[in-house]
Amino acid sequence: MKKIIEPIRIEIPLGIMFQSVNCYLIPGKQLTLIDCGLYSESNWEIFQKKIKEHGYQVADIEQIIITHEHRDHIGLLPEIMANCNAIVRVPKMIKEWFSQPGKKNKEEIDFTKKLFNSLGFPKDILKEVFQYIEEVKGNRKFTNLDRFEFFEEGDYLEMGNTQWEILNTPGHCPSQFVFLQKEQKRIFGSDMLLPIAPMPIKVENPNEKGQPVKGLVDLLNSFERLRVFDIQTIYPGHGPVFNDANAMIDKQLARMKMRKEECYDCIKSGLNTPYHINRKMYSFQKMPPDFSGMFMVLGYIDLLLQEEKIVKNKEGFSLPI
Ligand SMILES: [Zn+2]
Repeated sequence: MKKIIEPIRIEIPLGIMFQSVNCYLIPGKQLTLIDCGLYSESNWEIFQKKIKEHGYQVADIEQIIITHEHRDHIGLLPEIMANCNAIVRVPKMIKEWFSQPGKKNKEEIDFTKKLFNSLGFPKDILKEVFQYIEEVKGNRKFTNLDRFEFFEEGDYLEMGNTQWEILNTPGHCPSQFVFLQKEQKRIFGSDMLLPIAPMPIKVENPNEKGQPVKGLVDLLNSFERLRVFDIQTIYPGHGPVFNDANAMIDKQLARMKMRKEECYDCIKSGLNTPYHINRKMYSFQKMPPDFSGMFMVLGYIDLLLQEEKIVKNKEGFSLPI
């Protein structure tokens, strides 16, 4: 059996939801970096300092792999690319996020605003939310596009002298990719397998123009897809490395089931908009900046609609008559 090369976890400060986001440096025939953290001037300093502590510098990186297009995973990519000659491998389905980031960001801002406009927010809070959405969306520019290569579900990557299978596991977002080593039961879980339930962000469905994805429905399917591999070591996109993916999946599913029932009780009691349900179930969260509870509520509503336990009407949601 080949010697297993342990990835080096590089934590970059984040502050929202999670304290940090992980990049992984994987030694081997070619030095690989998975994901690039959130951009800020100080994070760029931190990134360079941390990899130096492990005996590397940015110029040593030969291959960069991106798991999905969120700003906390691609933020430092322009700086890193400018300081090394690495090839950059990204999911084919997010090609435009690098070739036309301005266009993709605008599309997503417009879609998110339209979505949030329909959730029952009071006007003053909605204004604050819109401002936040405009502020946080990525504004990075990518050059050297000739160094990009694109991968798809079913392709393989070589990292740490090992072949890793590429799986598209929608849920957190449609373009969420994870990298699996079946024999070693290891996975780079990105934002799919995390120590807490991944946030099922509602973006436009890539297969259905104008319609939002059903992120939580997708997430549950992706959990079931991953379950069969009995994964033992998870290198997540946030938080420490953990063991036993199925135990974590079961724990998260049990909590979601309980919270879905609470959502149903809210609707039964007459709370009819996602905003009002959210304020009852997630009163401990402030929106903005934390939208995770809102995306969970929207996910529970999708599940309850699918189970025909609730219906959508002009005012929002209610029990079927
Ligand atoms: Zn993400």
